[in-house]
Amino acid sequence: MIEKKDLDWGSLGFAYRPTDYSYVCNYKNGAWEEGGLTTDHSVTMSECAGILHYCQECFEGLKAYTTEDGRIVCFRPDLNADRMYTTAERLCMPPFPKDKFIEAVKQVVKANEAWVPPFGSGATLYIRPVMFATGIVIGVKPAEEYQFRILTTPVGPYYKGGAVPISICISQYDRAAPRGTGNIKAGLNYAMSLRANVEAHANGFAENLYLDSESRTYVEEAGGANILFVDKEGTLVVPISHTDSILPSITRRSLVTVATEMLGMKVDERYVKFSEVENGDFVEAGLCGTAAVISPVGKITYGDEVINISGMEQAGPVMTKLRNTLTDIQSGKIEGPEGWICEIDA
Ligand SMILES: *Cc1c(COP(=O)(O)O)cnc(C)c1O
Repeated sequence: MIEKKDLDWGSLGFAYRPTDYSYVCNYKNGAWEEGGLTTDHSVTMSECAGILHYCQECFEGLKAYTTEDGRIVCFRPDLNADRMYTTAERLCMPPFPKDKFIEAVKQVVKANEAWVPPFGSGATLYIRPVMFATGIVIGVKPAEEYQFRILTTPVGPYYKGGAVPISICISQYDRAAPRGTGNIKAGLNYAMSLRANVEAHANGFAENLYLDSESRTYVEEAGGANILFVDKEGTLVVPISHTDSILPSITRRSLVTVATEMLGMKVDERYVKFSEVENGDFVEAGLCGTAAVISPVGKITYGDEVINISGMEQAGPVMTKLRNTLTDIQSGKIEGPEGWICEIDA
């Protein structure tokens, strides 16, 4: 048993703290090299690198958890490997092989074992794979050289207070173009939404909720999380997009399975009009993603209109149950569907 770092695990925020190792692998001459661990947490590249000019970049996010019996596990890394593959293809980047991705995650988590927060601390080791164009380009075209890296960092809850309700607002800005890049995990989507994010925070909101940018009629997702609703009948309502501009959240897809197969809930994946939210059709809402798991949404503001969902006092029962079930699966407390837990062998 490796000795853990001397950190105050319980008081970690969602911030970057370099660990001992990162993983790095370069793409050159039409192939990915072997790749391996590094203690160098900086990247040096040409001022003419493709990432700096035409933004060829994508990333992933997952976590490593310590189980009650002391094992270190990851949650569904195969889906992160799949998604990064699809994202890379959309950005004309060479996809990182899926089995190599999973091996790299295991290798870097294992090397940083001392940084994986202990069971029950509320903290986890956040794993951030990232890929970008290092090759030089001046005329517009895909680069010929790339770097794939994985950094890890121990983190606490994403939204302060964990499962305490948050207040969000409808953004005046759009996050993603119809049939654009909203369905892939590219940094450029975040560049688009940073200003909206800063303004929302300045106005006292935790996040923005985006409507579809084609008609501004349907609810799509938040800046960095998908949204789920619960209607008056107790059905879990999950928004889909006419223009394929919602990011396929692994947390959301897992929660849909948990709701149907483990909690016996009815789940409706459908178009959701914002007018339904305004009409008070939903009794609970939550933002979901790896970073936040589920953050209950207490109220939603649209201009001068404030729509109360389940209020700011406490999380609703459905969101609480979903959150607890998923975190119990992730920490190995209860058994989830087969193949969801990936052991980092000691
Ligand atoms: C990463 C991300 C999510 C959440 O996806 P998970 O796989 O659940 O972590 C949701 N929306 C956006 C825009 C994202 O970038």
